[in-house]
Amino acid sequence: MRRLHQLPPDVITKIAAGEVIERPASVVKELLENAVDAGAHRIDVDIEQGGVDLIRVVDDGCGMAAEDLPLAFASHATSKLAIADDLFRIGTLGFRGEALASIGGVSQASLQSRPAEQATGAEVACQGGALSSVRPWNGAPGTRIEVRNLFYNTPVRRKFLRAVGTELGHVSEVFTRLALAHPTLHLTLRHNGKDIYEIPGSSGILDRLGVFFGADVRERLYPLEARQGPVLLRGYIADPANERGNAKMQYLFVNGRWIRDRSLGHALQEAYRGLLMTGRYAVAFLFLELPPDHVDVNVHPTKIEVRFRDGQAMHHLVFAAVRERLQKEDLTGQLRIPGKVFAPGFGPGAGLQSAPGFFGSPVIPASGLPFASAPNQANNHLSQASPASGISNDPGTGALAHSARLGGPSGEMGLTPVPAPGELKAIQLYDAYLVLETPEGMLVIDQHALHERILFEQLKRRLRTDKLESQRMLIPEPVDLPAEQAARALEQRDALAELGLGIEDFGGGTVLLTSYPAILGKQPPQTILRAVVDYLIAKDRMPVRAQVLNDLLSLMACHAAVKAGDRLTADEIASLVAQRHLVHDPHHCPHGRPTSLLLSRQELDRQFRRT
Ligand code: ADP
Ligand code: MG
Repeated sequence: MRRLHQLPPDVITKIAAGEVIERPASVVKELLENAVDAGAHRIDVDIEQGGVDLIRVVDDGCGMAAEDLPLAFASHATSKLAIADDLFRIGTLGFRGEALASIGGVSQASLQSRPAEQATGAEVACQGGALSSVRPWNGAPGTRIEVRNLFYNTPVRRKFLRAVGTELGHVSEVFTRLALAHPTLHLTLRHNGKDIYEIPGSSGILDRLGVFFGADVRERLYPLEARQGPVLLRGYIADPANERGNAKMQYLFVNGRWIRDRSLGHALQEAYRGLLMTGRYAVAFLFLELPPDHVDVNVHPTKIEVRFRDGQAMHHLVFAAVRERLQKEDLTGQLRIPGKVFAPGFGPGAGLQSAPGFFGSPVIPASGLPFASAPNQANNHLSQASPASGISNDPGTGALAHSARLGGPSGEMGLTPVPAPGELKAIQLYDAYLVLETPEGMLVIDQHALHERILFEQLKRRLRTDKLESQRMLIPEPVDLPAEQAARALEQRDALAELGLGIEDFGGGTVLLTSYPAILGKQPPQTILRAVVDYLIAKDRMPVRAQVLNDLLSLMACHAAVKAGDRLTADEIASLVAQRHLVHDPHHCPHGRPTSLLLSRQELDRQFRRT
């Protein structure tokens, strides 16, 4: 049997160090934060070999008194917390008194410091946890810490370090986060004697974003500001065209601290819903300021996760502010020529590009929406509803039953198409695209994507006031499903009922389909139920109800919309085009694909040398 014993102090230190010091970047983060807490205006960071050989951080902050130096590398020694209650109103980046002890335990470190009000300073060294005596030191006010040979005494940890370039990348990231969180600091970063960044205190957030992420990002940012109670949200969000394949460019700061937060990340993505393809991520830089007692930062060893007192309110704030800001912008996919972004998420345009050099000129900024000024008649002219579209003017269920064709549900939705005055000329190409002359330029519409968007919004509006129309089955239809799938579907019975999809448990994995959404017209009801079940089981964790409804609406809109390959009549084309300006976001289908692309009049003139 093994006996119980208390661990020796050097082992304890190494264990603790494992939590906070994972690699050179962790050291840089802790030292930078200490300098900020010391009130520094300027911080210089020098590293060698990705920080493995050397990390030196010099600041002009308040410095440390010589008498305090023996404690600097001691565990749980801090000047930032006095009593337990302080933990719930933390105004500094550090507070655990753990970082320097950890660093001193796994490297050869030295610290030199002088408070501004004192004529001389002092220095102390710490090698693998062993402290030297304190000696006088003559240097400028502030603090200077050198960390050499990280993990020299923990070979296993050292083996986990990556190539110099990778470690440098991590250091740069930490540096970037701090520079964004504290935009008045003068900061420099040097690697192996070469300048990487030199950021004057005068360069504000926007300049910094340009320095770190390039002009491409900087030029397509929308500033944002919102307040909710004592909470202030500020920052920049990027045009959806700047989307990325991962969430790394979603920067979130809380009271000057970079953090990671799944819930707020989700709020951000939700706000971009419909503007991004599935699996693509928005770019955003968001700064939250809130009273220290509204957020608990003491939940993670490196403090990169926090707990909000009212997480839901924060989620709402981020979602609403971002969503609102995006809606202010006209986000029509732009035909960017050459070779740049063709449309969000797409490569340079197939089809519209011709001989090399043909589209050789720079991007032309978008003008407004082709139909932006027309929606005033939206509620009139019921009788004009797309004559050829098979729509009945009966506002009851009958109208919906046929709505799968163009024109959509009529009457109550206030979405009757109003063909704009005669100058709208549209033709169908390849039974898939509509090409349209507008005052701004030549508009190419994806017929399926646009119709899907129109139906989606109609359904959504409808759902807000009522359930969707449903068609009762004369004879309920049994649908056999694997038991687990049947259970999943039955769990969501109420949500499905709101969508007009009625199901009942028949036992043994069989589900009885009693009614189906009228909008689906002649689609076989089984098909839609199976599509819905596929959706439900694809989720490993059930999303919130609003999202289930949203996704299912988009699924139904997709099934009900005209397809690529459907030949449309002139009236159907007119109807589809006319409804375009009645939808909230005519630019993207519910999955985030663009519905239309604009080749501007100016661009045409320029290409044909008419200017
Ligand atoms: P914490 O930051 O959690 O207090 P640290 O181990 O990072 O713990 O630092 C311990 C203490 O050393 C700090 O509380 C602070 O008093 C002092 N200190 C560390 N770095 C600096 C610095 N750059 N300037 C002034 N004081 C510092
Ligand atoms: Mg600290």
